[in-house]
Amino acid sequence: MMGDRLRAVVVGLVVSGWLTATAVPAQAWCWWNCNYTKTKYPIVLAHGMAGFDELFGVFEYWFGIPGALDDGGATVFVTSVSQFNSTEARGEQLIDQVEQIVAITGKPKVNLIGHSHGGLDVRYVAAVRPDLVASVTSVGSPHKGADLADYLSDNIEGGSFAQGVLAFFAESLGTVLGLLSGSTDPQDAIAGLDSLSSSGMATFNAQYPQGVPTSSCGSGASSVNGVRYYSWSGTGVLTNAFDISDPALGLTSLFYSESNDGLVGRCSSHLGTVIRDNYFHNHLDEVNQILGLVSIFESNPKSVFRAHANRLKKAGL
Ligand code: CA
Repeated sequence: MMGDRLRAVVVGLVVSGWLTATAVPAQAWCWWNCNYTKTKYPIVLAHGMAGFDELFGVFEYWFGIPGALDDGGATVFVTSVSQFNSTEARGEQLIDQVEQIVAITGKPKVNLIGHSHGGLDVRYVAAVRPDLVASVTSVGSPHKGADLADYLSDNIEGGSFAQGVLAFFAESLGTVLGLLSGSTDPQDAIAGLDSLSSSGMATFNAQYPQGVPTSSCGSGASSVNGVRYYSWSGTGVLTNAFDISDPALGLTSLFYSESNDGLVGRCSSHLGTVIRDNYFHNHLDEVNQILGLVSIFESNPKSVFRAHANRLKKAGL
């Protein structure tokens, strides 16, 4: 067992260019509850907004979360896919990395956890290669599309946004699109927007229906092709007065007709077994950003991830 963890320390997978899967260094010691998150299969964290990882690095995208999982005995890998691309293209990159993680660890499968767009990427991997996947968990992912993407798609004229939309968002447009699509380049963002709209997601869901609720706000199948499906999300928006990202999420939340985390609606986040869909977390709080600035009146995101790892462990995953 210790050998597995040591091996995870030693081997940092760096493929080339975009493709990176990094083993999380194992803690040298543990005081308490040392096996709480010790899942049978490695935990693989798949990011969403990669504009973010330019700022903080892909490891820090999950602020403090890999370490929190590792403290409880989990073997954790953090993957990295193209900042901007279709779910299928990102998913193919992720499959390559999962194959390598399986080769390194000697475990036949992984537990995939994706945030935002990453939650769609992991669905793709499980649909195409269920043999490599023990479980899929999405956190704040727009499985039925994002209202903001619909609005922006409807306001594209000749490849650029209508003047009124640009004026409305002013300088935060790039930030908003980066959060949503993983790109701060307007051309990339426009090209990618459709995949996160309700029509784009309907097309994706028709091809990859595993775990997606058939009703508008129900749960999905808990297990498909031997893969367990879970999801959670938040409906907080303004959660911490010191977090500079809260006002931007407050602005984007105005586009939603249902409660939301600033970018993804409560019902749209449902996949498989819905663990909870109303944490007082906004879209960035879900990955303990920015820099751990979250609500002090709600379960800490790190605790939510640890509890989920324990859930996977108890399920024999
Ligand atoms: Ca926050």
